[in-house]
Amino acid sequence: MPSVSLRLAVIGAGAAGLVAARELRREGHAPVVFERAAAVGGTWLYAPPAAPSDPLGAAATHSSLYASLRTNLPRESMGFLDFPFVAAEATGSADPRRFPGHEEVLRYLEAFARRFDLLRLVRFETEVLGVRREGRGRWAVTSRKLGDKGSGQEEVYDAVVVCNGHYTEPRIAVIPDAWPGKQMHSHNYRVPEPFLDQVVIVIGASASAFDISRDIASTAKQVHIADRSTPLRRCVKQPGYNNLWLHSMIDRAQEDGRVVFRDGSSIKADVIMHCTGYLYDFPFLGDDSTITVDDNRVDPLYKHVFPPEVAPQLSFIGLPWKVIPFPLFELQSKWVAKVLSGRIVLPSKEEMMEDVKAFYSKLEARGWPKRYTHNFSNCQFEYDDWLAAQCSYPTIEEWRKQMYFFNGYNKAARPESYRDEWDDDDLVEDANGDFKKYL
Ligand code: FAD
Repeated sequence: MPSVSLRLAVIGAGAAGLVAARELRREGHAPVVFERAAAVGGTWLYAPPAAPSDPLGAAATHSSLYASLRTNLPRESMGFLDFPFVAAEATGSADPRRFPGHEEVLRYLEAFARRFDLLRLVRFETEVLGVRREGRGRWAVTSRKLGDKGSGQEEVYDAVVVCNGHYTEPRIAVIPDAWPGKQMHSHNYRVPEPFLDQVVIVIGASASAFDISRDIASTAKQVHIADRSTPLRRCVKQPGYNNLWLHSMIDRAQEDGRVVFRDGSSIKADVIMHCTGYLYDFPFLGDDSTITVDDNRVDPLYKHVFPPEVAPQLSFIGLPWKVIPFPLFELQSKWVAKVLSGRIVLPSKEEMMEDVKAFYSKLEARGWPKRYTHNFSNCQFEYDDWLAAQCSYPTIEEWRKQMYFFNGYNKAARPESYRDEWDDDDLVEDANGDFKKYL
């Protein structure tokens, strides 16, 4: 039995909040999950097309999914560690593809919530407005039910676990105001039809930029991708398309509507689509949280989870990116749950700060910008295995690690078809063998 059982506030009922609630309750705590939406799923709750009042802003919806989105990870690798994301009745499956459409992920998360009886922990349509530090390390949480007027209800919790996601607040490239065309962020992109016969520039090199440029090319007159990492001197037409080009970054955008690329080419465009990523945003936290966000570094956090000054009563699940998210969320949640119950003891504040500083020095030595602080492309499995060791839990399965790398190679080799052609069926077999113990 845990040594301490706490009353906890979890903010968000996406994949991170759901698994956090499960792990906290498994450890004997009493979590209350606050969720602004009317259902679980977070990002995977697709918001149908609507003309956003601010096409560059976040205000209208939480989810950034577009209608055609299929997962970019194979489903075997993507699921929680002990609740396999397989095409089976238990996961509510209706799309057996290995890289299914977004609806299948939502069905899986709903099935996870039902299987572990999590729905009754969630206060739906309830937004957290403020989190304020109280005496003895506790936190006052102010929340308001959708439609209610007034400043909301305040309750005191022993600790707060922040799971509010980080794919909602758009990060935007600076385009001069004088450019007369329409601008939009990928957060607000849903379907290609509104771009019929238009000339569209897509800024970015992420998975979303790749998918959205192809999606729009199905209706637009021309699509031009501007990618700052493209070392090209000339633009290049993309194989298999007669209306899609890859350029280096935008050099300038002019009053006459022309956009000039660093490769010297220029085009008169109707729309600039910013697929330029997102910002971490915690509007409900004040200075007493002790963290700040600067150039997308959430600072300071011990192992990307605990602010040393107020640990363990405040924690963050799900900040790392370039990862397999669900298993990482699960391991972070196990760690937080056990730290809160006192079964795992954190180092002293000073030691945690030293660890944070040593980590920043490593990033600097590698020449990585601040905004890559939570980019785990080099270290996710090392991190996962460290968390697992802390919690005396098995390390990430070998097949999952290999599948992640194989998917990366396959995507680079077959960018247009990696979701339907692959060479790692042996790993799928290993995964399915492993899953038998959970099904
Ligand atoms: P979210 O899913 O964003 O959930 C956060 C929740 O917090 C939301 O429900 C929100 O309503 C709630 N919330 C926020 N603020 C408040 C508040 N103040 N009060 C109350 N509730 C609040 N991952 C994969 O594994 N595979 C993929 O193929 C994949 N593709 C992706 C494609 C796109 C376009 C995007 C944007 C992401 C993709 N991801 C993918 C990553 C995905 O974000 C994660 O899988 C995961 O869903 C993140 O879960 P989360 O719980 O951290 O955040």
